[in-house]
Amino acid sequence: MASPWPTQAGARAFYGAPGTNHVLLQLPYPMTYDGKPISRISINEKCARSAERALLQIAKEYSAEDRKKLGLSIYGGCFNNRPMRGGKQLSMHAYACAIDFDPVRNQLKWGKEKARLAKPDCEAFWRAWEAEGWISLGRLRNFDWMHVQAARL
Ligand SMILES: [Zn+2]
Repeated sequence: MASPWPTQAGARAFYGAPGTNHVLLQLPYPMTYDGKPISRISINEKCARSAERALLQIAKEYSAEDRKKLGLSIYGGCFNNRPMRGGKQLSMHAYACAIDFDPVRNQLKWGKEKARLAKPDCEAFWRAWEAEGWISLGRLRNFDWMHVQAARL
């Protein structure tokens, strides 16, 4: 199936300049950010409906209790105008087309033996994103398991 998303190199042309084309997405299930409840996030309008569909699917697959336990309700950020870690290219977060989950238990350099989101009980979470064409660096490269993005590598 053809991906609806640009490559990372094509992200600017597709999503616009960093900080533009944002919409507020009402979250299909409650999340927390820094321990505080949130009900919506700022995200690029091009991938907002897709993120909503993935989150709706996740809400269907997991109980509120399980979402909390697995970290699926722990939001770690979307828009952040910064370069990729250790690089010069812009992070996909600069285009507000990447979302982080539970960063404390899925640290950037951790592989699947340590990352919480790499465990088998999170499989349906990743399938929900992958069904929408989103990419997991954890699933593809075994690092940054907190991260999912609507851009191809
Ligand atoms: Zn990220």
